[in-house]
Amino acid sequence: MAKDHQCPACKNPVDRAATICSNPECRAELAFCSHCCDVTNYRLVKEAHGRLARNQYECARCQRVGVKCLTWIAGGYCNGLARAGSGIDRPLCSSCMSRASEIGRSVLGWSIMGALGGLLRRRK
Ligand SMILES: [Zn+2]
Ligand SMILES: [Zn+2]
Ligand SMILES: [Zn+2]
Repeated sequence: MAKDHQCPACKNPVDRAATICSNPECRAELAFCSHCCDVTNYRLVKEAHGRLARNQYECARCQRVGVKCLTWIAGGYCNGLARAGSGIDRPLCSSCMSRASEIGRSVLGWSIMGALGGLLRRRK
């Protein structure tokens, strides 16, 4: 797969799906931003309160707010930040959204809700 993305912190080429920079000197946390559609660094801007709330992160590239995709939280293969901040937070990042519409929303939706339900129960 072509490594056409860069770590914003050290300019090291990184994989589209990387959650941490492969440069041993950097090791910055990476996520795929649904706003600017690029791999980015992120920082916590708002801690989640409440049962279904998710921490909000700010994209280092576009300064817009995102939340970790449910697939990522549930331990799935995803490093996406879903769009958040205005109105309702999106449950899934843009790549999982398109994957969900390919596979069929119901199947993926149910498996994610099941995984998330387990996650919430564990936290209590
Ligand atoms: Zn880096
Ligand atoms: Zn962004
Ligand atoms: Zn996702």
